[in-house]
Amino acid sequence: MTGHYTGLINRYRARLPVSEATPVITLNEGDTPLVEFFNLPKLLRKKVRILGKFEGLNPTGSFKDRGMTMAVSKAVESGSQAIICASTGNTSASAAAYAARAGIRCFVLIPEGKIALGKLSQAMMHGSVVIQIRGNFDDGMRLVQELAETMPLDIVNSINPFRLQGQKTIAFEVLQALGDAPDYHALPVGNAGNISAHWIGYSEAVGKRCGSCNQCENDCPHLRDKLATRRPIMIGYQASGAAPFMRGHMVDEPETVATAIRIGHPVSWDMAWAAKNESGGWFDERTDEEILHAQKLLAESEGIFCEPASAASIAGVCKDLERGLIGDGSTIVCTLTGHGLKDPDTAIEQSTKPVVVDAKRGAIESVIAQHLPQ
Ligand SMILES: *Cc1c(COP(=O)(O)O)cnc(C)c1O
Repeated sequence: MTGHYTGLINRYRARLPVSEATPVITLNEGDTPLVEFFNLPKLLRKKVRILGKFEGLNPTGSFKDRGMTMAVSKAVESGSQAIICASTGNTSASAAAYAARAGIRCFVLIPEGKIALGKLSQAMMHGSVVIQIRGNFDDGMRLVQELAETMPLDIVNSINPFRLQGQKTIAFEVLQALGDAPDYHALPVGNAGNISAHWIGYSEAVGKRCGSCNQCENDCPHLRDKLATRRPIMIGYQASGAAPFMRGHMVDEPETVATAIRIGHPVSWDMAWAAKNESGGWFDERTDEEILHAQKLLAESEGIFCEPASAASIAGVCKDLERGLIGDGSTIVCTLTGHGLKDPDTAIEQSTKPVVVDAKRGAIESVIAQHLPQ
């Protein structure tokens, strides 16, 4: 390989449903760092390896870019001139950026008042048409599907199968970084596309199933070239106020500070259950308080600032380690789905306010003296 990294389609071309004719609309997404946490296991007094796959370092600050490069490339290949999505924020930010890159129109439906400021600013800045609805994500999702029936619009939500195809590449990257699967892979679950995509990726990597070209049976190049000998146990964490997988049915009024997973009617319901069951994993829920505590803990102990929804995976793993559900000696990968800068309001609210003093040496000295290590 020569030259610089040019995005996940070029890197994993042989494992994706693209051809020479597919225009590659990319912002060089993917190839995100897998960061080992050294302080967290010590704080928890556990002999485990915990690593974070920091998807907040994608071009628009979330894993949505992995799916969007595929969805928009395929939309453009099919001659589409406009895309539409419902979004809790990050899908709209990503769709807006990739549509700008492709030179096509982008329409986004977002829940009024329930979107993090950073995400809204991205959708607006990239020139998409932002439509705030008096309703939640699930209302937006239903409306998008209705609109696309009669209008010339390509849906780029995760019901678009190309989204999951792009997102499955996270599994390939983890496998290539670690040499084989971790014991556990934990991530937040909202619309449930991402846990499904992780599982497609891990499964293809061991030659188990191929989601890439619906026609192939056993003799498929994706399946022959194995990247791993085994698959991880998948753990999906939800916010307590938006936990349909814990309730066993859809939830009508989802509520959580983790707005990216404020979803009560997940589209990839069956696939997510399959990922959990086939992997021998589980779903669990964490309260908003636990999620925010984990977000802060990660930021202060490891220097990684993820958004609240992403911290559900950390909150989840910490408690499951304490409870012994995840044993000593385990290697655990947590997907940190989005960047903390997306939601500055929530970050500022839970942090110590800046100290205000006169612009005098003595005043500042006394503040420093109070905080220096003894
Ligand atoms: C979209 C999103 C999620 C949820 O992913 P799903 O595929 O909807 O389950 C979690 N965290 C962040 C930051 C997101 O943007």
